[in-house]
Amino acid sequence: MISKNRLIKAYMKKALILGISGQDGAYLAEFLLQKGYQVVGCSRDAEMRNFSNLTRLKIRGDIEIESVFLNDFRRVLQILTTVAPDEVYNLAGQSSVGLSFEQPVETFQSVGMATLNLLEAVRYLGQPIRIYNAGSGECFGNTGKSAASEQTSFRPRSPYAVAKAAASCQVRNYREAYGVFACTGILFNHESPLRPVRFVTRKIVNAACLIAKGEMKSLDLGNVSVERDWGWAPEYVEAMWLILQQDTPEDYVIATGETNKLEDFVDEAFVAVGLDWRTYVTTDQSLLRPTEIMTIRADPGKAKRKLGWKAHFKMADVARMMVEEQMRMLDQPPE
Ligand code: NDP
Repeated sequence: MISKNRLIKAYMKKALILGISGQDGAYLAEFLLQKGYQVVGCSRDAEMRNFSNLTRLKIRGDIEIESVFLNDFRRVLQILTTVAPDEVYNLAGQSSVGLSFEQPVETFQSVGMATLNLLEAVRYLGQPIRIYNAGSGECFGNTGKSAASEQTSFRPRSPYAVAKAAASCQVRNYREAYGVFACTGILFNHESPLRPVRFVTRKIVNAACLIAKGEMKSLDLGNVSVERDWGWAPEYVEAMWLILQQDTPEDYVIATGETNKLEDFVDEAFVAVGLDWRTYVTTDQSLLRPTEIMTIRADPGKAKRKLGWKAHFKMADVARMMVEEQMRMLDQPPE
């Protein structure tokens, strides 16, 4: 006789999340668990990682984690065969635009080559596995005043964006050439308290809170005139899932549709702690990038029409919520 637990497990959809230790991996895992999925996560070296984001969201115990290096074809085949997922979310890879200028080869291998490896493995297995590819609005380069949609050409301006553009083209090619259900979510910046401090929004929030507490004196930033579209990461993971629930595989721009200057984000973060940023922020020429995107605008209209998805939180909400959480963390007594 089959036990009730085994029967329930047999009906649960299974998701494999590559890059589960990161910001999006953690929120997506939380979201899919709430949807009733069985979630298996992958990290390059599961033994060496502490998975603090999963612990923070109180879901570490609900997820089985495997070591997978996506560039290793045999290992990718093995994990797809043993887990037999319905859906694979590839969120792994070097994700910093700044670091990509220092490590372009690693960036290309972990994004461009790794995505190709995954697509090849799924094609080879011939299983009906749905693949989500983490694309990026950085691929569009400077958009000027016209908002980028799914029809807009890529003009990448960093090794990171070049690698993401290559991965997105591979996804489209495998869809058209081999009928693989693979989709790219072209996500614009999305932030949260789980963003590492290396990323500028979290760096700003961290500094504003420490300055307010008298534990830091000033903050060095690069170009604060750059314009971006900032959203709230926990709601972007729903868009990833929705993309894979459609009848036909397609690519989608996911963004708020609102563009702001970086100095506006700085202003919101400092206002949230009762300070005027102009007193504390200095420009550091060494933080300027060899090629920078000045303006990036997004048109998430297709996501609203076809997925019924729209961002509820805009830049000012994101800055305020990140500051509130950072202050809460700083005020917590050490364990
Ligand atoms: P994170 O950097 O937080 O997570 C990515 C994960 O990939 C890491 O946790 C790490 O897992 C793994 N990884 C890091 N470097 C490498 C490498 N060199 N080779 C292989 N694996 C690596 O990213 P996010 O969660 O913020 O983003 C998820 C995905 O979405 C990424 O692909 C990112 O580029 C993309 N994206 C993110 C946006 C954002 O605003 N957050 C915007 C647009 C796209 P481990 O060490 O456990 O192996």
